[in-house]
Amino acid sequence: MPELPIYLDHHSTTPVDQQVLEAMLPFMTEVWGNPASKDHRFGSEAREALETARRRIGAFLKCRPEEVVFTSGATESNNLALFGVLGDRRLSESHVVVSAVEHSSVLDAAAELERRGARVTRVPVDELGRVQAATVEEALTDQTVLVSVMTANNEVGTVNPISEIGAITRERGILFHTDATQAAGWLSLDVTNLSVDLLSLSGHKVYGPKGVGALYVSRRKPRVRLRPILFGGGHEVGLRSGTVNVPGAVGLAEAVDLAQKTASAERDRLRELTEQMFEGLQSAVGPVRRYGDPTNRLPHNLNISFDGIRAKALVVNLPELAFSTGSACTTQKAEPSHVLLAMGIGEARVREAVRFGLGRSTTAGEVSFAVQRIAEVVNRLKSASAVAV
Ligand code: PMP
Repeated sequence: MPELPIYLDHHSTTPVDQQVLEAMLPFMTEVWGNPASKDHRFGSEAREALETARRRIGAFLKCRPEEVVFTSGATESNNLALFGVLGDRRLSESHVVVSAVEHSSVLDAAAELERRGARVTRVPVDELGRVQAATVEEALTDQTVLVSVMTANNEVGTVNPISEIGAITRERGILFHTDATQAAGWLSLDVTNLSVDLLSLSGHKVYGPKGVGALYVSRRKPRVRLRPILFGGGHEVGLRSGTVNVPGAVGLAEAVDLAQKTASAERDRLRELTEQMFEGLQSAVGPVRRYGDPTNRLPHNLNISFDGIRAKALVVNLPELAFSTGSACTTQKAEPSHVLLAMGIGEARVREAVRFGLGRSTTAGEVSFAVQRIAEVVNRLKSASAVAV
């Protein structure tokens, strides 16, 4: 019997990998200087660590180190991308295109820009949750200054055609931002191949620490000019004032390196386990609805529903499993998932959807235990509601 509860919510967050922790520790206790201190060795050692981390993330994204700006996470990276690009422009003459399934840190930033006078188009997705490049193209106008489309979705795992969209925006001279928070470690994030100008990352989704992230800001053609959203000491080439989280930056660098090394084996292993989980559930309870793109997808995502069974009822009845109803970032509002709604799924069905995210520690034993417990609860709830009727 596996140790309980079993964590199956890796889209929400991941634990810090032991190797990442070990890489970070010296930068809390031994090399703890302020990288902005120019007058002594404590500062220069911390600066060296920070610049090494920047180079490693640059290598991961195939960009120059100076194009990497450290932030507190993807929420800040996304806000810096949107407010930064729009910052110095006349908002009444600026148009922004985002997809309808973005994370709230993009959607709410766009809504705030709209409130301040910018024009915002939220492009729809198809029934698999995919943002079609042609739909983005149709939304573009002469005033469009920025397009933001996530690389992979955090609820249904659908991967978007980023390089196709990038080719279109590049040709039109429009800046392109992608939130790659969920894609890091799974997909190649070569910013040149993707034709993106801005890209967001977060540490805690790739077995790195919480509270650290990065924003790639292109300094090539086109050179992106951002207006900062935080003002102060002018750290991070003036784009993100505030003493940089050096252990966090080191952890993010180690985490993306590690993810890259383990990616291909983990992709195969987790895709197989995820399929086993889906097939196991189907054979134990009958048809299960599955959401997201069956081909262009994150390998560890399983977003499903059982007809007639509320997601909340599953969560309450399965305390030995950690999974979620919709995304963790919107559960506080208890609103039905905007992602599933945008995919054209009816509200009743949306309230039945649950998301599982398998991860580095997930074992075949845990998956078969989860299948067995979910099936027991689903079958019990089904027969209870049959009796009630
Ligand atoms: N974008 C996506 C796609 C996410 O899944 C998340 C985290 N749920 C974020 C942005 C926000 O990341 P952070 O927690 O680092 O602010």
